[in-house]
Amino acid sequence: MSISPEILQIANVQIDVVRKDIKNMHLAVYPPHGKIRLAVPQNTDEEVLRLFAISKLGWIKKHVKNFKQQARETKRDYVSGESHFFQGKRYILEVKQHDGYGKVSISGTKKIHLKVSKGATVEEKARIMKEWYRKQLKIQIPSLIEKWEKILGVKVNDWGVKQMKTKWGSCNTDAKRIWLNLELAKKPPICLEYIVVHELIHLLERNHNDNFIAYLDKFMPKWRMYRDELNNLPIVHNDWGY
Ligand SMILES: [Zn+2]
Repeated sequence: MSISPEILQIANVQIDVVRKDIKNMHLAVYPPHGKIRLAVPQNTDEEVLRLFAISKLGWIKKHVKNFKQQARETKRDYVSGESHFFQGKRYILEVKQHDGYGKVSISGTKKIHLKVSKGATVEEKARIMKEWYRKQLKIQIPSLIEKWEKILGVKVNDWGVKQMKTKWGSCNTDAKRIWLNLELAKKPPICLEYIVVHELIHLLERNHNDNFIAYLDKFMPKWRMYRDELNNLPIVHNDWGY
């Protein structure tokens, strides 16, 4: 019995196969570059692996592509053709010159239009985009807070949006004030909702203890999925029997 990885090559997709003492096959895609790993029971026939992997090819390709896009996302030049995310969807930036203030708008489901004055620097474009994201997020938040205040039976005194390096949100339980990370504007709305719920639950339970987890499990049973998506953790497919 060996636990060294075998490589399974299907079209242009390379999968590391790991044989283990497990009952079901287990498929996962890992950040940052979309490495694919398939854990399988020790004696699984190679043909079974191949057929299984082929049946999951659509799923694999989708998540590998997502990771590659995210990995590229770090540096931005704010030029036409660049990808920018908004509410979890990818848009193509189209930059145009005009006379007047910087302006951002969306058309359809594909494009974000950025209008700037002639000679605008990358920093100016970045600032205009950031303020647009802030404005959009501030449109999304109030109804979420209102909804979850009712469900949880809590009340916040104040909330705000700011750029945070290491957290998606924070809650000052004494002041009953929550902060939400500006980056959430780029994430799927359900991920923003999860952070709102998380921070509001702190008004019921200050610490991340069992009680806190019990609240999350009760009010938002799929919260782990949203957390993993935000934290760019491996996207794991369900286990299958075969
Ligand atoms: Zn927390």
